[in-house]
Amino acid sequence: MKLIIFGMQGSGKGTQAKKIAEKYNIKHISTGDIFRENVKNQTELGKKVVEYMNKGELVPDSLTCEIVKDTLNKVDGFILDGFPRNLFQAEELAKMLDIDKVINLKLTDEEAVKRISGRRSCQACGAVFHTLFNPPKQENVCDICKETLIQRDDDKEEAIRKRLELYHENERKLLDFYQARGILVNVDGVRPIDVIFDDICNVLNEI
Ligand code: AMP
Repeated sequence: MKLIIFGMQGSGKGTQAKKIAEKYNIKHISTGDIFRENVKNQTELGKKVVEYMNKGELVPDSLTCEIVKDTLNKVDGFILDGFPRNLFQAEELAKMLDIDKVINLKLTDEEAVKRISGRRSCQACGAVFHTLFNPPKQENVCDICKETLIQRDDDKEEAIRKRLELYHENERKLLDFYQARGILVNVDGVRPIDVIFDDICNVLNEI
């Protein structure tokens, strides 16, 4: 199974991607996670991408496509999360392999800002909380390792607005690209996680 999950930051695509990967035994590939891991470990790649990420800008396509190509070479089934972000990346991906389905989780901007700006992450163990939807037991303290929680620079309102702008710029073209190939599935993202997941499974079970 070769899938893409598509949706605005905060649409819950990461959560759904993990559930899908687990159920269908495929690899969850998040370009954002790959980049963040490299920044954290201060690798050569991490040093190249950190500035872009902190400003909420896209990492250059050449670099991103190279990383994705390397990763896809090592797996069979997968769900891509955070890639492709623009038409160039979609075209590069199409040269590599055929995608079965593209799941598009739909969300309003207002809902996206509310969801993202509340995110708080633990730098020590990577756990993610939310001030409204999943608050830690003690404010700003990780439940698991007791480290202080931080708001990622790219989860701050200014960076979110920039990302949403970028997202809309590319969204229509990407949706059209996959719609034309008959593999786009739209899913309403403003519902409980399990209800959304059931909807997605119904689509995937048909493959
Ligand atoms: P995400 O966790 O998907 O929101 O990604 C966090 C950041 O990583 C983005 O704001 C970009 O700077 C970078 N990034 C992730 N995926 C891509 C991609 N496909 N193309 C370019 N930059 C990306």
